[in-house]
Amino acid sequence: MKKIRVAIDGPAGAGKSTISKIVAKELGFIYIDTGAMYRAVGLKALRHSLDTKKDIDAISKIVDDISIEIEHGQDGQLVFLDGEDVTSKIRTPEVSIAASDVSAIPKVREKLVELQRLLGQKQNVIMDGRDIGTHVLPDAQIKIFLTASVDDRANRRYLELLEKGTPCSLEEVKADIELRDKNDSTRACSPLKPADDAIVIDTTGNTLQQSVDLIIKTIRERLG
Ligand code: C5P
Repeated sequence: MKKIRVAIDGPAGAGKSTISKIVAKELGFIYIDTGAMYRAVGLKALRHSLDTKKDIDAISKIVDDISIEIEHGQDGQLVFLDGEDVTSKIRTPEVSIAASDVSAIPKVREKLVELQRLLGQKQNVIMDGRDIGTHVLPDAQIKIFLTASVDDRANRRYLELLEKGTPCSLEEVKADIELRDKNDSTRACSPLKPADDAIVIDTTGNTLQQSVDLIIKTIRERLG
């Protein structure tokens, strides 16, 4: 039987991963967070002391033999970079910016898209990212573009980081989100934008439960 693929795209902090994780559990699908893969490449570039804005050739080279593996643990996705569990190490503000920088490099996208397509073939999946509906899984049965106001998104991300004990200020988080929005939507290669056939959902002012309910309803309606 053809596997069901749900693509969830949208800007940073729109709630994609939190919502997708819960929805996947509810529907019995596998959740794949593609942003984590760009974060792993960003972390590797930082560890090689590369300038993620300028060292395009060197970063293109490190993805040649990079190993990024995804495992599905009790609490969600685990990410392994060259065999090392980097699940929590990729969540720092520094790695967020590095991920956004390296994601504009065509060679990096080519490599990660190939991996993502393979993961999308194996089982029913909910895959979240920026270009899933437009590029990675263009034939996904359901495409959702999740968005929210920049203040709402900054606030959510700030609370998430505080909960994890990462020191930061709301202003810093908002500036990081605005910068990544700009980078992600203006890059030449697969920029962030809704697919023509995506359902756009604005979660501004919603509670998490309201957004989860809305998305499950949308998916169930689409699947009949
Ligand atoms: O989703 P998350 O914020 O963890 O993603 C980190 C960065 O990776 C994003 O800012 C974006 O630049 C990049 N990304 C991407 N395409 C994807 C997923 C993430 O360009 N499919």
